[in-house]
Order: sequence, then structure tokens, then C-alpha cells
Amino acid sequence: MLVNTKQILEDAQRGQYAVAAFNVYNLETVQAAIGAAEKEGQPVIIALGERYFPTVDVEGFAALVLALAAKSRVPVALHLDHAYEKSSIVRAIRCGFTSVMYDGSKFALEENIARTKEIVEIAHMAGVSVEAEIGSVARGAFSDEEEGDGTLTDPESARRFVAETGVDFLAAAIGTVHGMYTGEPKIDLALLDRIREAVHVPLVLHGGSGTPDDVITKAIRAGICKINVNTEVSMAAVAQLLEFSADPSAGKAHLSTIMANMQQAMEPVMTKFVRLLAHKGR
Ligand SMILES: [Zn+2]
Repeated sequence: MLVNTKQILEDAQRGQYAVAAFNVYNLETVQAAIGAAEKEGQPVIIALGERYFPTVDVEGFAALVLALAAKSRVPVALHLDHAYEKSSIVRAIRCGFTSVMYDGSKFALEENIARTKEIVEIAHMAGVSVEAEIGSVARGAFSDEEEGDGTLTDPESARRFVAETGVDFLAAAIGTVHGMYTGEPKIDLALLDRIREAVHVPLVLHGGSGTPDDVITKAIRAGICKINVNTEVSMAAVAQLLEFSADPSAGKAHLSTIMANMQQAMEPVMTKFVRLLAHKGR
């Protein structure tokens, strides 16, 4: 069933577990995400980034996700990931997204607060919840996100940001990266504890791909309720495609087979995350 993102994340916060938000780009990625969630009996968040707006028919895509969510056995939410433009946020709200992320992290705190506050006012009028980010998640390998400078979130700024904007969830930068880590991950869990003490809304971790399982579990224990996963899923599908292409008879294959194979390659990666996140952080 389709469930508001806020309800899914507040349930997670109460239950001390986290929910996976998978970035999706087409029907197969959505089917793989909902399939993994159903297999594990857990909620899932389907996330479409603003950066895919030029190639994805947003209204058609939202209708498709909402229809699949309606017939799903588990709670499914539809989220707009990393939106930089107000017009994208309004477009997502109009076509039924249950939450939006406004990314004003490149602005100074004052300006990020002012811009996010305006988005919160618009979204809340439509019953849509809002995620925002302070600090900035850096970019690792194979990432499809914009470059971030890796500034970690300052707890006092986080407290002020949440109080002044009325944002529903906060993405905290604690050292995870978008994409895969190029060296040893340096994740500041002590900082996460301090952010947790400063704010009471559900916290979001961007850059789930490649993050060690024990760090994910500790982050959930410290209050992370939503973990975004993009690159690791994409890599599994690409690896499958390359392996398939290496077969001398691959040129005779039908596209429907290739798409189904890619979905099959993505599902176990998603299932791994859904299962890991469902564990209580306690
Ligand atoms: Zn992100």
C-alpha cells in the first residue's frame, strides 16, 4: 500500500530500525525494490532524483509507482531525491510524491534555512513531507550525484535548521559518500550521537553503498531511520549486463530478457539492504 514517507519513518524511529530508499530509474528498478521489500516484509521508499527528470517522464513514472505501491503487500512511499529547483518540487507534489528532498546544502546556513523553509511551507500545504540536508555528502567512485565538499554536519546548526525550517527529516553528513568509497570509510558515529541529541526528527544517511554493515547497524542505533542506496544496485545491474554481453550469442538476445536479467541481478543487493536495515539498532 502507498504510505506517507513521514509515517514510514516515524514508525521506523519508534521501532529503532531503518528503511531503505532505493534510487530508481525505470520499471525494472522499481519492481526489484518492491520485490525485495515484499520478500522481507518490510517498508520501502522509492526515490527518483531530480537529475533523472530530463530522461524520465515524471508524471507517467509517478503514476506507475503509485499503481505498483497500491497493490503492494508492504508500505511503499514515493520520494523526490536531491531536488535543487522549486519547480521540480512542485511538479513532484502535483503528481503524488509522498515526500521531497530539497538540497540547499551548497548554500550558507542562513540561505539554506530561508530556501528550505519556503519549500516546507509549500509541501506541507499539500500533505507532503520534506527532507533537507546540512553539511555536504562528498562524492566517491561510480557516483551519479553532484559533487559535495564533504563538510560534516554541525550539531548546533542542525538544531537551528530543524527548528527554523520545520523540516520533517534531516540528512546528516557524517562521512559517508555518494557512490563507492575510494579508501577506508571514515564515518563519525560520535558526531551522529551529538546530532541525534540536538534534533528529534528522523535522520537520513546518504551514501549507503559500500558502507560496512557494522557501521550501518551502529548508525541505526544512533538514530538513522532512512538510508539511501543507489550506486551498489546500479553496479550489480551493469556487471550483469557486461557478463551477459561477453557471451558470443548475446547479440541474438531479446531486450526483454536483458531487462529481466538486470532486475534479477539488482534484487539480491536490495534484499541485502532491506534485511540489514530491518534489524533493530539496539
Ligand atoms: Zn544523496
